[in-house]
Amino acid sequence: SKPIVAIVGRPNVGKSTLFNRIAQKRVSIVEDIPGVTRDRIYMDAEWLNHEFTMIDTGGIEIESTDKILTSMRHQAKLAIKEADVVVFVVDAKTGLTSADEEVAVILKNARKPILLAVNKVDSPKDELETFEFYNLGLGEPYAISAANALGLGDLLDQIVAAL
Ligand code: GDP
Ligand code: MG
Repeated sequence: SKPIVAIVGRPNVGKSTLFNRIAQKRVSIVEDIPGVTRDRIYMDAEWLNHEFTMIDTGGIEIESTDKILTSMRHQAKLAIKEADVVVFVVDAKTGLTSADEEVAVILKNARKPILLAVNKVDSPKDELETFEFYNLGLGEPYAISAANALGLGDLLDQIVAAL
């Protein structure tokens, strides 16, 4: 079977948007209500002749706002268990949050490659916002804009290199 890439992160950071971009087919439903995702969570994808299966872990359950942390811990653990590579998505517009820090601790304790994607870097002037995410201790943050398809080639190069 194909290697598995899991996408984890807080509600509303753009996981499903990224998932749909990489899948190049609209399979997830992206809602404007934070935390609400009703989607097919598995999708096959391919980059430079490397095939893999992606999981949008945010689609596993409808997240009520009071349960965000519980849900994120669940996502992170599931991703660690199932995936060969974990893509941790954070939000440049919101900045670093305590929930991001908590998930980073869980991810760091797993012996799996973790890639840190800083989403919503919609223009070059937003790139400065990525630097604070070095504090998560997960290595280089990759600036992306899932909505505008920016930085995705570099991120995908890193994903397939880690498979
Ligand atoms: P999820 O809850 O993590 O799956 O996030 P979604 O993919 O549902 O996106 C949440 C919101 O962020 C939606 O309103 C998206 O349109 C928006 N969004 C996603 N990617 C970007 C981006 O690159 N830039 C901006 N400005 N907004 C984005
Ligand atoms: Mg989603």
